[in-house]
Amino acid sequence: MTPDLTRSSAADLAGALSRKDVSAVEATQAHLDRIAAVDGDVHAFLHVDTEGALAAARDVDRRRAAGEELSPLAGVPIAVKDIAVTKGVPTTCGSRTLEGWIPPYDATVVARLRAAGLPILGKTNMDEFAMGSSTEHSAFGPTHNPWDLERIPGGSGGGSSAAVASFQAPLAIGTDTGGSIRQPAAVTGTVGTKPTYGGVSRYGLVALASSLDQAGPCSRSVLDAALLHAVIAGHDVMDSTSIDAPVPPVVEAARRADVRGLRVGVVKELGGEGYQPGVRTRFEESVQLLVDAGAEVVEVSCPHFDYALAAYYLIMPSEASSNLARFDAMRYGLRVGPDGVGSPSAEQVMAASRDAGFGDEVKRRIILGTYALSSGYYDAYYGQAQKVRTLIARDFAAAFEQADVLVSPTAPTTAFRIGEKLDDPMAMYLNDIATIPANLAGIPGMSLPSGLADEDGLPAGIQLLAPATKDERLYGVGAALEAALEQRWGGRLLDRAPELDGSAASATEARA
Ligand code: GLN
Repeated sequence: MTPDLTRSSAADLAGALSRKDVSAVEATQAHLDRIAAVDGDVHAFLHVDTEGALAAARDVDRRRAAGEELSPLAGVPIAVKDIAVTKGVPTTCGSRTLEGWIPPYDATVVARLRAAGLPILGKTNMDEFAMGSSTEHSAFGPTHNPWDLERIPGGSGGGSSAAVASFQAPLAIGTDTGGSIRQPAAVTGTVGTKPTYGGVSRYGLVALASSLDQAGPCSRSVLDAALLHAVIAGHDVMDSTSIDAPVPPVVEAARRADVRGLRVGVVKELGGEGYQPGVRTRFEESVQLLVDAGAEVVEVSCPHFDYALAAYYLIMPSEASSNLARFDAMRYGLRVGPDGVGSPSAEQVMAASRDAGFGDEVKRRIILGTYALSSGYYDAYYGQAQKVRTLIARDFAAAFEQADVLVSPTAPTTAFRIGEKLDDPMAMYLNDIATIPANLAGIPGMSLPSGLADEDGLPAGIQLLAPATKDERLYGVGAALEAALEQRWGGRLLDRAPELDGSAASATEARA
């Protein structure tokens, strides 16, 4: 019997591919079959590019047969969040505004995937313009958490994490402005890294908040995330904020998986009240496992983190409101005429199109951001938030004097039910309370599964944070902790998730 290729790690699959035990076409087809079988239940994908993926796989097989030197992940299929533009493949950003748009170019991240020979399976679902923590703000319907289809997969990149968690793709690309890689990873039992700001090019990613956005890897293991990180990272002349320095040695660190002598700082302000007991228990256990593996634990205090959420919800909407001004119905995207107006002006078309094309959350943030930037309020809101941002960066700098990495729970709770927080923006925003500080300071962060919470049996996540450009520390600590946790849980957590069979999809069809 042939092993199920979709259960394999990216690293193992890459090994099988390089030994020619399996072809890239077989590996890609196995994942396309899995998507066809289960994505009706999960709805991780907005678009599946069967032809494009198989063509890329055939090309890898041909080059391998010709004896060409290939990238370590050549032939390993991947899913890409629908925020990254893909030449010739629809890109919607989860919005009606971009429905039907076919980009004429590739984002740098996508170009690097293609150059490294990773067949792109398709584009994953997300909250509209990456605004949200549950993927419920997608204009195309929510993604379901593979652990419990009635629950959210996190957001905004719930599609990428759910695709990886449900074995539809071994790897995926996400983006993280305030937590959208790490929080979905936490609630789906997967791994996700937000690299140092500028570590991965933003060229061709539809911009949410340019000073916060960062693309990164989603995977089922720390080593897999490192392998993908190495493919997508590095300087890009097309992004003036990309770091012009060698990529941190993330793969080497993940393979070494060593924490001996390392100082791990537990952030006092991220935990405790408001965090679900089961999430806290798994976090404390993980910290103990790090101690057992030879790390030294200290408590650190970052007093200004209490203002991080407030500062973020001024800075992010401010930047979003100006970034989203490009959707003016003139250059690309949806265009509708206002009702009952004979020959409408450009402004009337613009207003009607933006009204029809944007969902409530997007409108809320554009209004909030425009207000915060308006001349009378700029100093009181936006200017003040920027000062808080500096204080948060200083808190991190002080904490990293005492510790090599910092740790906290990734999200305060496990996956909540679909619909539970949809009408309560504040409750939704609070999901990112622990992830936002890293974006404000530009430092790298990772979430990995810490176990299943006792009260609901759902995955919880632990967050690791490192100083800017020291991304390798996340991988060294992450891989060591992952190994200890696998011993504790008797194997990979994701293998305990319920089997999907597409029956939820047939139930929906039967109802329709
Ligand atoms: N949930 C946060 C927000 O809605 C973070 C989003 C993100 O990281 N893209 O802003």
